[in-house]
Amino acid sequence: MDFKDTAEEAAFREEVKGWLAANVPTEGELSGLDYIGRAKLWQKRKYDAGWACIRWPKEHGGRDASAIDQVIWNQEESKFNTPDSIFAIGHGMCAPTMMTWATDEQNKRYLPKLASGEEVWCQLFSEPAGGSDLAALRTRAEKDGDDWVINGQKIWTSGAHYSDYGVLVVRTDPTVPKHQGLTYFFLDMKSPGIEIKPIKQISGGSNFNEVYFTDVRIPDAQRLGAVGQGWQVSLTTLMNERASIGGGGGGVGFDSVYKLATRVKLGGKPAIENDQVRANLANWYCQESGLKYTGYRSMTALSRGEIPGPENSIGKLVGAPKQQDMASFALDLLETSGAIWDPELSEAAGMFQATYMSSPGLRIAGGTDEIMANIIAERVLGLPQDMRADKGIPFNEVPTSSS
Ligand SMILES: Cc1cc2nc3c(=O)[nH]c(=O)nc-3n(C[C@H](O)[C@H](O)[C@H](O)COP(=O)(O)OP(=O)(O)OC[C@H]3O[C@@H](n4cnc5c(N)ncnc54)[C@H](O)[C@@H]3O)c2cc1C
Repeated sequence: MDFKDTAEEAAFREEVKGWLAANVPTEGELSGLDYIGRAKLWQKRKYDAGWACIRWPKEHGGRDASAIDQVIWNQEESKFNTPDSIFAIGHGMCAPTMMTWATDEQNKRYLPKLASGEEVWCQLFSEPAGGSDLAALRTRAEKDGDDWVINGQKIWTSGAHYSDYGVLVVRTDPTVPKHQGLTYFFLDMKSPGIEIKPIKQISGGSNFNEVYFTDVRIPDAQRLGAVGQGWQVSLTTLMNERASIGGGGGGVGFDSVYKLATRVKLGGKPAIENDQVRANLANWYCQESGLKYTGYRSMTALSRGEIPGPENSIGKLVGAPKQQDMASFALDLLETSGAIWDPELSEAAGMFQATYMSSPGLRIAGGTDEIMANIIAERVLGLPQDMRADKGIPFNEVPTSSS
């Protein structure tokens, strides 16, 4: 692939750069706002100028831009210190699912408000008994007139506490094998009977939640796909989740650890002169380069109008442990001061500490390391399938610890 922009892409990049330089909010504009207010202000500004969700159709609040235009936008936006997004799940996963499965009227109602940041969406998939094996979920839905009545529990729901809507997969028929008895809905998170309990994380934050459903009513009109087709609809969400998580970028990168190693001392000498430090850095440089060129391979596929396939799982499988190892190594290099994670006082404004604390989650969210390895083994390398002891068995006949 030729990595240089075409003339058209270069012109688009200049336009993006110019708009960003003039419109990224200043600290003064953001002062007094919490992270939700900051994220909404930035999203609305992009939307008003036609720069929100640029790949979406214009009628849904986008710009009809190409995949490569989106890559260019992402590259340029990432060079600015913009407010953290709270829209990744809504834009990256819920919207593509709505576009594939919802009616035109529903898309006209919901997508523009999602693009403008006025409404935030979350993903109600994981449960205590259904994570990697999502199809083992147990939250039930029973038909009652024109509504469905939902009872059960979800867990690890990022952003549920500030979301307006959520996508939800539930069990509507326990008498058929697990993948066949699921149905998919979207719902108003302010519906009576929903209780949201934040979970305290190791980082000190509470970004995800337990969500309990007690007799929550959802109109049948908010079903996506047919009754029993929930697994197929979920795959639309999951495929987009993998694509949007990608290489586990952000946080600690090679450059930041390299610079640290040139600054701090080890055994009285600059750490960069230590053989083990140099060997580690060389290893991460190779991994980071491999990820970069693998990313370019996906870009090539996108620019040809192809959809990047399961080989994309390698980005997360290599990128997330690399982040964790580099952050851990940086904290060791910082010795006792590595324990100070107040951004005002610590090295690199607490970036190494924050990455270290969030990296275990990165290795789990959107598919654990082991699940990514299974995907690569089965779908890229064509190795035999993982053992599936409950295959073909009605869900309510699958033995459990309580049966
Ligand atoms: C930061 C973060 C944000 C999240 N946000 C959301 C969200 O917004 N919405 C949502 O629905 N969920 C969310 N999740 C949940 C996430 O999708 C699940 O944690 C994930 O799918 C793993 O499921 P689990 O936690 O139940 O672990 P389990 O599936 O119970 O896995 C436990 C261990 O067993 C291993 N394992 C399981 N199956 C296999 C297998 N077949 N082969 C080999 N090893 C296996 C796993 O790799 C893991 O090490 C989030 C998680 C995190 C960490």
